[in-house]
Amino acid sequence: MRVPVIAGNWKMNKTVQESRSLVFDISKGIREFNNVTKILFPPFMSLLPAASLLTGTEIALGAQNMHWEDKGAFTGETSPLMVAEFCKYVLVGHSERRTYFDETDEIVNKKLRSALDHELIPILCIGESLTEKDSELTSSVLKRQILNGYKNVNASEVIKTIIAYEPIWAIGTGKASSGENANVTIQDIIRPALLDLYGDNIANSVCVLYGGSVTSENAAEFFDHDDIDGALVGGASLQVDQFVEIVRICSRK
Ligand code: PEP
Repeated sequence: MRVPVIAGNWKMNKTVQESRSLVFDISKGIREFNNVTKILFPPFMSLLPAASLLTGTEIALGAQNMHWEDKGAFTGETSPLMVAEFCKYVLVGHSERRTYFDETDEIVNKKLRSALDHELIPILCIGESLTEKDSELTSSVLKRQILNGYKNVNASEVIKTIIAYEPIWAIGTGKASSGENANVTIQDIIRPALLDLYGDNIANSVCVLYGGSVTSENAAEFFDHDDIDGALVGGASLQVDQFVEIVRICSRK
């Protein structure tokens, strides 16, 4: 039984003061929906105040990124030990990190491995670019990202992770995939890739989210499909009404 997940990725938005008020308003709106795992990913600066505001709620916190080493001379980086003080989840391999910060599959795998070693739940983000999609490379790209992302990760660990299928052409563009297309991709490419690596049970147990221009207007289209277990939401997670409505729609799943 996979529990639906709604995760809000705030990206590089909101000061600490703005974050406090957004966390307060969102938590007021979504705390009643108990059959959905709710996760907020504010910027690093806002994790501490968010953690204190969310104490005693069922709303979890996640980090948008982290380094894989515990400590050391890595100016500007944040270690898994620091993340684990406030967060239960961490995003790894978001396409913006892969594109703008040159994160390779190898780096993504180090982060995912480190997250598991620190009892953080990694959300492994995968997705094809528009050029790859148009060149019919979606299947090979997703399989490669899964194979490399989960290198040195065993079945009992994979089952704790979450995958976010985020076609790059749909992120922040307002051009979401259709629910049907996202579901087919998960059903025909992502779960079979997990099956090849870890078998049937794992393939059917790992939560797979869709991400890419999800709003309260199109959310139902995704959650009506059996293989889509929720959403990683970017832009719409910064708007209280939008995010609360997305969680509400998902709670009917
Ligand atoms: C994201 O940042 O992961 C994302 C899906 O963004 P958006 O919802 O804005 O497309």
